[in-house]
Amino acid sequence: MLNLTTIRLTIMINKLFFTFLLLMFARGSLAGSETVSGIGEYDDNNTFAKILQGKLPANIVFENEYVLAFEDIHPIKPVHVLIIPKGQYRSLIDFSSTASDQEIIAIVKSMGKIAKAMGLTKDGFSLMTNSGHNGGQTVAHLHFHLLGGEPVHWEKALREKNN
Ligand code: 5GP
Repeated sequence: MLNLTTIRLTIMINKLFFTFLLLMFARGSLAGSETVSGIGEYDDNNTFAKILQGKLPANIVFENEYVLAFEDIHPIKPVHVLIIPKGQYRSLIDFSSTASDQEIIAIVKSMGKIAKAMGLTKDGFSLMTNSGHNGGQTVAHLHFHLLGGEPVHWEKALREKNN
């Protein structure tokens, strides 16, 4: 027969175990450790990290405390700007889960400012990010492609290609 002390002890051990599991789960999510296929840990030798460190040149079009924007080296549209956070984030997955509110607000605000500064307000533009293997991400530092200067219509092009 189990006495009261044994039952209480069992409940306490179970509670501790589940608290431990919860903490481990929260730690993983908060640290942004979710894996994104094709991207490992943040590597501060990636191309954009080198641009941020001033080790590689870039045609910078905008900069503030949290954000850097520069022209893509192989533009696919007359305007092709890459907008990146200065912090070390591999993709939208870790940025959205671990960046500070200031960083998130700063990058969204900068997007509008840059689109305006690049003269894209009237005719419009496309803004997109690739994440991991299926997204076709080739540089493992979060970046947004700002495309304009002529119709982008990438979704239409993909639909036509798939038909
Ligand atoms: P992703 O394919 O990862 O979405 O986009 C990476 C982008 O970075 C590509 O459009 C590519 O042309 C651009 N890129 C790669 N290396 C460099 C570089 O050294 N300088 C600049 N400015 N852009 C680069």
